[in-house]
Amino acid sequence: MTEPETKSPVRVAILTVDDDPGVSRAVARDLRRRYGKDYRIVRAESGRQALEALNELKLRGDQVAVLLADHRMPEMDGVQFLEKAIDIYPKARRVLLTTYADTDAAITAINVVDLDYYLLKPWDPPEEKFYPIIDTQLEEWRHTDHRAVSQSKMIGHRWSARCSEVRDFLARNQVPYVSYMNDAPEGERLLAAAGVDDSKLPVVITASGDVLIEPTDSELAEKVGLSTSPAEDFYDIIVIGAGPAGLGAAVYGASEGLRTVLVERIATGGQAGQSSRIENYLGFPDGVSGAQLTERARRQALKFGAELITTRDVVAVEVNGSARTVRFADGGTIDAHTVVLATGVSYRQLTAPGLDDLAGRGVFYGSALSEAPGCAGQDVYIVGGANSAGQAAMYFSKYARTVTMLVRGPSLEASMSSYLIKQIATVENIKVRTTTEIVCGHGVEHLEGLTLRNNKSGDEEKVETGLLFVFIGAAPRTDWLDGATVRDQRGFVVAGPDLVVDGQRPAGWPLDRDPYHLETSIPGVFVAGDVRADSVKRVASAVGEGAMAVTLVHRYLEKR
Ligand SMILES: Cc1cc2nc3c(=O)[nH]c(=O)nc-3n(C[C@H](O)[C@H](O)[C@H](O)COP(=O)(O)OP(=O)(O)OC[C@H]3O[C@@H](n4cnc5c(N)ncnc54)[C@H](O)[C@@H]3O)c2cc1C
Repeated sequence: MTEPETKSPVRVAILTVDDDPGVSRAVARDLRRRYGKDYRIVRAESGRQALEALNELKLRGDQVAVLLADHRMPEMDGVQFLEKAIDIYPKARRVLLTTYADTDAAITAINVVDLDYYLLKPWDPPEEKFYPIIDTQLEEWRHTDHRAVSQSKMIGHRWSARCSEVRDFLARNQVPYVSYMNDAPEGERLLAAAGVDDSKLPVVITASGDVLIEPTDSELAEKVGLSTSPAEDFYDIIVIGAGPAGLGAAVYGASEGLRTVLVERIATGGQAGQSSRIENYLGFPDGVSGAQLTERARRQALKFGAELITTRDVVAVEVNGSARTVRFADGGTIDAHTVVLATGVSYRQLTAPGLDDLAGRGVFYGSALSEAPGCAGQDVYIVGGANSAGQAAMYFSKYARTVTMLVRGPSLEASMSSYLIKQIATVENIKVRTTTEIVCGHGVEHLEGLTLRNNKSGDEEKVETGLLFVFIGAAPRTDWLDGATVRDQRGFVVAGPDLVVDGQRPAGWPLDRDPYHLETSIPGVFVAGDVRADSVKRVASAVGEGAMAVTLVHRYLEKR
C-alpha cells in the first residue's frame, strides 16, 4: 500500500519505495522528521505500487522532487522502477538505495536511468549520511523548471474542432487549465498516466484528478465545478444569457432581493468575454480585458446571491398562468414570475466555399483568444472591419508574425472607432487590405490557404495561412422564440413602445396597459442588450439595459 504520510500545503512529494516494510517505514520516518513540514512523503512497498502512486500524483498535478528506490525488490527492481518513473516525472531526482554488494548495479544505473545518487544502507546517523544527500537533491531539483500544474490539463490534437472548442470553453469559463498536444512529451506522459491513448481526444484531467475522455460541455462543467442545475423550482427572475446584459440584470436583480437565476449556454461573459481589450467602458481609462470585466461581474452577481447555471441551452419560453416557464434543450424546465432575454448575437458564418468544414480547424468565429499561443510565428488573417476585428488584430499581432485584416469596404473609418484605427496604424506587423473578400478556403485536415479577391479590380491572389478569425455581421439566434414573441425581420426582439403600431398593441397582448419599455409581446418577459431590436451594440448599453430591465420587473411584480 502507498501512504501519503504528511499532508503539505506545498504539493511537492518525496517518494520512497522499499519492499521491506520495516526499512520502508524507517526511511519514511527519517524523511518525515526532516522534510515533512515542506514536502509530502509518499511511501510504497513495491515498484508497482510506487508507479500507481506516481500516476495519481501526476493526474492531480502534484510535483515529485525526489524518488528514493531500493534496488533489491522482487518483481521490479529499483533500476527498473526508476526507468519507468522517468516517463512520469522526468525531472524528479533519482536516488537508488543499495547495499555495498550492489554497487555494480548502482554504477550501471547511472547510465541506464541517469541516476543522481546511490545511497549505501545503512545510513545512520541520518544527519550525517542521509540528510545532506537529500538536501543536495532537493536543492538541485529546485533549480530545474518544475512549475506545479495544479489546474486542469487538456490533451488535444492541434487540428481538432472539438479540442479547440474545449480549450475555448475552459478559457471562457475562467477554469485554470494547461493545454498539451497529444504528441508533446508531457501530453504523452499525461495520457500514459491516465491509462488512455490518443484515439479519443480531447482528454481532460481535472485539478482533482478525474479523467474525462471526449467530454461534453455539461460533463466538463460539472467536473470542473461549474453549476449546471438550478437549485430551486421557482424564481422571481430567470435571466437567459450571461453576457453583459444578463450579468447586469443578475447583479441588480439579486442585489435588490429578487430570487435570480442566470442561465448560460456556453460561458459567462458572452461576446464581451471574448474581447481582448475594452477601452471605452466607463471607469476603465486604461482599458480592461472583457474576461476580467465579466469575471468580476460574475463574482458580483454570485456575491449578491444570484444563481448561475451554465451549459444549459434555452429553447422555449412559455406562459403558464402567472408563471413564465423556461424550457431547456434537454427537456428540463424552470419557472419564474418574470424572464429577461439577454441572448445577444453571434457572428455570421462565412459562406465562401471550402471554409464550412474547417470551422475550429484553422477557421474561428469570434476571437477564440485561447488560440493565441498557437499563432506564434504564423501569418494570421482576420475578416471584418468593426471594433471587434480591430481589437483581435491588436491582440494577435503580439503573437503572430503578421496579421492581415481583410475589409470589404474601402476603409476602416466607416466601421471602426478612430482610437483603434490609430492604434492599428502604429503596429508594424498588421496589414489592412481594404476592398478585399475571400473567394474560397483551401485545406483538407485544416486550413492551409485562402483565395482573396480585390472587389474593385477583380484581381485574385492565393495566400498561405493556417489561421483565419472571422468577425462579420452579428445575428441574433432567436429562432426558438418564433411564434412566442414579436421579432423584427432579422430576428431581433421587439420591445416596449416599438410594439405599439398605429396605436395597436401586439396581437394577443392581454393587459389594458402598453408594454413597458423593455417588455416583449409577452407580459413579464423583458429583453436587454444586443438581442433587442435597434439596440446599441455596446457593453455599457447592454449592462444599462440589464439594470433597467430589473426596475421594470419590480414595476411588473407590483402592478400584477
Ligand atoms: C471581440 C469583441 C470585441 C468587442 N469590443 C467592444 C468594446 O470594446 N466596447 C463595447 O462597448 N462593445 C464591444 N463589443 C460588443 C459587446 O461585447 C456587446 O455589445 C455585448 O457583449 C452585448 O452584450 P449582451 O449581453 O447583450 O450579449 P452577448 O455578449 O452576446 O451575450 C449573450 C449570451 O447569451 C448566451 N445565449 C445565447 N442564446 C442562449 C440560449 N438560447 N440559452 C442560453 N444562453 C444563451 C450566449 O452564449 C452569450 O453568452 C465587442 C464584441 C466582440 C465580439
